[in-house]
Amino acid sequence: MLQIEIDHLNKHYVGFHALKDINIAIKQGSFVALVGPSGCGKSTLLRTLAGLEKISSGDVRIAGTSVVGKPPRERDVAMVFQSYALYPHMDVERNMNYSMRLKRRPKDEISERTRAAADTLGLGGLLDRLPKALSGGQRQRVAMGRAIVRNPKVFLFDEPLSNLDAALRVHMRGEIRKLHERLQATSVYVTHDQVEAMTMADHVVVMRSGVVEQQGSPLDLYDHPGNKFVAGFIGSPAMNFLPATAEADGKIVFNKDSTQSIQSNFHIEAGRKLWVGMRPEHLSLQAGSNDVEIDAVVTGIESTGSMTFVVLDVADQPVIMAHSGRPGNGKGEKVRLHISADNLHLFDYETELAIT
Ligand code: ATP
Repeated sequence: MLQIEIDHLNKHYVGFHALKDINIAIKQGSFVALVGPSGCGKSTLLRTLAGLEKISSGDVRIAGTSVVGKPPRERDVAMVFQSYALYPHMDVERNMNYSMRLKRRPKDEISERTRAAADTLGLGGLLDRLPKALSGGQRQRVAMGRAIVRNPKVFLFDEPLSNLDAALRVHMRGEIRKLHERLQATSVYVTHDQVEAMTMADHVVVMRSGVVEQQGSPLDLYDHPGNKFVAGFIGSPAMNFLPATAEADGKIVFNKDSTQSIQSNFHIEAGRKLWVGMRPEHLSLQAGSNDVEIDAVVTGIESTGSMTFVVLDVADQPVIMAHSGRPGNGKGEKVRLHISADNLHLFDYETELAIT
């Protein structure tokens, strides 16, 4: 069953078209990430779902009913903000049950639901603390607790982890995902961090300049990016792109060094201008099956301990290779890179659309 349907949604600010013909169908129980660079419109889209932002045209349906024109409180959604938006003068308990008190729910129900949410989030011992006496992670939990007590159909998260340090962020990702599963809710999660989107969501929507560039499962986006933007945005380190030209029978020549050519599996007309895309983790110094070979020179090496990133010059362009071993090459060394022909991505040079 579809929980949220976004149909031909447009949002205009004065002199600015912020959301352009957005179409997204979200299944009940799914975890959807809206991801894209700063200013692409993901927060605006989330706010239109919450009812905090009026739409200019199109429709938004929640559980089959149009919510266009309905105020936030009539939408059965709860939003968790990046800033947490806690009331500084209220303790944790009163912050969490504020909405129920506002609705004058019975006292027993208020304390029962607050207690249950606090237990779920491990906040039981902190109910009488003020927000200023909590750590960032604890505040984040209180913000989630405030959403949970309302028992909404839909949770909306606006970059809820961006104020936390890296380790806590990774921990909280797992916690939010577990919570989502336990509550069997539908969650829409805004982030500019593609790793967060890929690890948490079962449906990822990649946006740029107010447009949905592509949506699908995380692995579908990784394996089959529909254009150069999505290919470069999903995956870390980012995909390498080299300008090239097709010759006959799938042969491809790099523009910046036409002495180098590679043999691909693609059938493309000779003379077509291309981008050749290669993920850093698909490049290797070891020969494999269905191999494409590329000459390169090592120009730099970075190691994190667990991963090594080798910066190379290929046809006068920088290329990164990532592997889990220790650094084994020196600067200036000539090497031969290998990549399976199945892992080559090609994009039209002008339209930047994937060639399949
Ligand atoms: P970020 O990750 O930086 O928060 P975002 O993808 O969430 O970015 P939005 O906040 O949704 O981006 O903003 C989308 C675009 O709409 C931006 O270019 C922004 O400048 C513009 N915008 C937002 N609010 C208004 C407004 N009230 N009037 C005019 N333009 C606006």
